[in-house]
Amino acid sequence: MEAQDYINLENEFGAHNYKPLDVVLQRGEGIWVWDVAGNKYMDCLSAYSAVNQGHCHPKIKGTLIEQSQILTLTSRAFRNDQLGLLYKELCALTNSHKVLPMNSGAEAVETVIKAVRKWGYQVKGVAENKAEIIVCENNFHGRTITIVGFSTDRSSRENFGPFTPGFKIIPYGDSDALEAAITPNTVAFLAEPIQGEAGVIIPPDGYLRKARSICSQNNVVMILDEIQTGLGRTGKLLAEAHEGIEADLTLIGKALSGGFYPISAVLSNKEVMDVLRPGEHGSTFGGNPLACAIARTALKVLVEEGMIENAARMGDYFLSNLAGIKAPHIKTVRGRGLMLAVEMTDEAGGARQYCEQLMARGLLCKETHENTIRFAPPLVITKEEIDWALERIETVLSSG
Ligand SMILES: *Cc1c(COP(=O)(O)O)cnc(C)c1O
Repeated sequence: MEAQDYINLENEFGAHNYKPLDVVLQRGEGIWVWDVAGNKYMDCLSAYSAVNQGHCHPKIKGTLIEQSQILTLTSRAFRNDQLGLLYKELCALTNSHKVLPMNSGAEAVETVIKAVRKWGYQVKGVAENKAEIIVCENNFHGRTITIVGFSTDRSSRENFGPFTPGFKIIPYGDSDALEAAITPNTVAFLAEPIQGEAGVIIPPDGYLRKARSICSQNNVVMILDEIQTGLGRTGKLLAEAHEGIEADLTLIGKALSGGFYPISAVLSNKEVMDVLRPGEHGSTFGGNPLACAIARTALKVLVEEGMIENAARMGDYFLSNLAGIKAPHIKTVRGRGLMLAVEMTDEAGGARQYCEQLMARGLLCKETHENTIRFAPPLVITKEEIDWALERIETVLSSG
């Protein structure tokens, strides 16, 4: 079978809820992937930062194989010998007190919504069914009904109502708006440290620190969704560290398994989690021994192999060189660590065509919204490989 045959199968038998680039991948190693015809590409998307450790990392692969031969799923009706160890290691690494494991990022978001509502009623004393959660414009937190209900992206929401009430939307990066939106019924503020899907939107310096103190002063739980920014992507283990703060609840997912398995987690450094009692929340696969073993190794290699420091160093190098590219249609270049974006002008005619041209030259990346190209390679990328990428990026962006 050739690439077009696979594409035809997808088109004929699959739901059309994605518009992928027409590259059919078959194999991956580190920052590189190969298509069914054997063409090699640099992956500058990393599955939306789920493969920060690089494709098919040998140590994570080893754990997957080993653990899958011993025990994969027990359900939480019984205990397993991996879950407690993951908790302990994750807490030590992130300075958290409690962990709740789920599978997808969206489930982690749903979990904190439940937890902070219950905390609001039982601890803060909010009247029944009055809890409010403040979120930001242009957020991306996942795809469930509740989550898309507080999205401001039309295609995410349109025709999917009615939605879950109890959310208030404020501009991102505006701490005055946060302060003004808080009422006695506010239980939590939920935000991304950097808005990834919105196009790598970095808030003003001091914003998260300000938000942290506003939340503390008002007895509001601060929730940071680090599903994309977390686990080394921005050059720190968690992006909150750039502002020297700690959220009360932190969500991680994606790279928590290095791309081998869906696993997400809620980290709690305040005792919000303790309001959840047996029977009130759960997941059949959440916390299974295969996922936990994989996550333990995925975290271990991230730290032991210096990927976080590499993301900081290589990110600075990549960003300063991107900023040096002279092309008529580049509007702005921004990024932190290896979470980078080039925004093109409206006259450029959309970012998609550039992504297609880059693909033809062996570099895979994806547009986000109309005009932004995101570059987020695995954190194991080297300076020489960035030079290789920059050559192609410069050629393609200058040509338009
Ligand atoms: C990807 C993502 C999610 C959703 O994760 P899924 O595993 O796709 O459900 C939530 N928040 C952010 C910031 C994300 O990038």
